[in-house]
Parts: sequence; structure tokens; C-alpha cells
Amino acid sequence: MRGLYIGRFQPYHLGHQAVLKKIAQEVEEIVIVIGSAQESHTPENPFTGGERMEMIYAALSEIDLRECSIVTPLQDIQRNSVWVSHLRSMVPRFDVVYSNNPLVVQLMSDAGIEIRRSPMYQREQYSGTTIRKLMSENREWAGLVPASVAAFIREIGGLERLIAISKSDRD
Ligand code: NAD
Repeated sequence: MRGLYIGRFQPYHLGHQAVLKKIAQEVEEIVIVIGSAQESHTPENPFTGGERMEMIYAALSEIDLRECSIVTPLQDIQRNSVWVSHLRSMVPRFDVVYSNNPLVVQLMSDAGIEIRRSPMYQREQYSGTTIRKLMSENREWAGLVPASVAAFIREIGGLERLIAISKSDRD
């Protein structure tokens, strides 16, 4: 059985990691889809699709899930009504989708696809919005992501990028 887990992963954090460990208990293979893959270099979407792919593969190695996972980027499209067909045309086949995102749940349900929700893990702190805010204010953020992801973000200058693109020309 193959499960699909979709997210923006801006950045990939320990909440995502906890969800993947849970999914791995239920399915043999996991397709991890990086949504909004075309986005990068904005305060809401600082990392490119490729950078997020590297983050996720590094984090999967930490929990021994790299062998059973496929990571693939997916660009957004302007028409939600045909998004599931778009997704299906771009990713390997799957049997069940894991998501708590209300729009994803609605669109998958409309298409007759089985959806499973996962428990929320310390959502207040394990949240992309919280982590990006901490990073842009140069406060402690690294403990909220897998160690390999923190190392990767430092290696690519991700912290400096987020701080720079969060400024305006009046700063
Ligand atoms: P996300 O990275 O915020 O979250 C991914 C998943 O992890 C979600 O199900 C979320 O609920 C879960 N999660 C996050 N923190 C968690 C925690 N602490 N504990 C447990 N679970 C946690 O990404 P997202 O916003 O859900 O990504 C959906 C993607 O689908 C977006 O890129 C969106 O653009 C895309 N999408 C595109 C279209 C379109 O192009 N028309 C339509 C629908 C969705």
C-alpha cells in the first residue's frame, strides 16, 4: 500500500517528521509531495522546491525512511477543481492521502480518494509560520527541525536569506 503526504515544508520540521513516522506504521511506501514547488525567496516560501527536496531526503535518512520514500515537487495551478487530476498526472500512483489541510481534504474527498488525518504534534511550535518568524527575527529555531535540516539550512545560507527578504527598502 502506498500513502501520499503533501505539504509545503517551508521548512520541513519535527511535526512533519512525526507525521511521517506514523504514516510509515500504516503503509509500505510513502510518496512525499512538495506543494507550491515553484515558490521561493519570499517570507512565506523562502526555500526552493529543490532545497526542500534535499531537506526531506536528509531528514528521512535520520529515521530510516529514505528507502521506502519518493519525494517529488509539484507546482500549484490556478484551478482547484482540476488540481487532483494535475497531481495524479505528476506523481506515482497512491492508495491513500494523509493531510490535515482543509482544502486538500476537500479536494481529495470530492475526487473519491481516501483521506486520513494525522494527530497534531505540538502545533504551536512545530509550525512553518512559527519557525520562519523565529528565523527572520534571528531567534532560536534550530531545535524545531531535524538536526540534518538545520545543518542544511545553515549550509545554504537560509537564515541570512530569510532575514534579508523579510526586510523592506525602508529598513
Ligand atoms: P504544510 O507544510 O503546512 O503541512 C503539511 C501537512 O503537515 C499538513 O497536513 C499539516 O496539517 C501537517 N502538519 C503541519 N504541522 C504539523 C504538526 N505540528 N503536527 C502534525 N501535522 C502537522 O503544507 P500544506 O499547506 O498542508 O500544503 C498543501 C500544499 O498543497 C500547498 O503547497 C498548496 O499550495 C497545495 N495545494 C495546491 C492546490 C492548487 O495548486 N490549486 C490546491 C490544493 C493544495
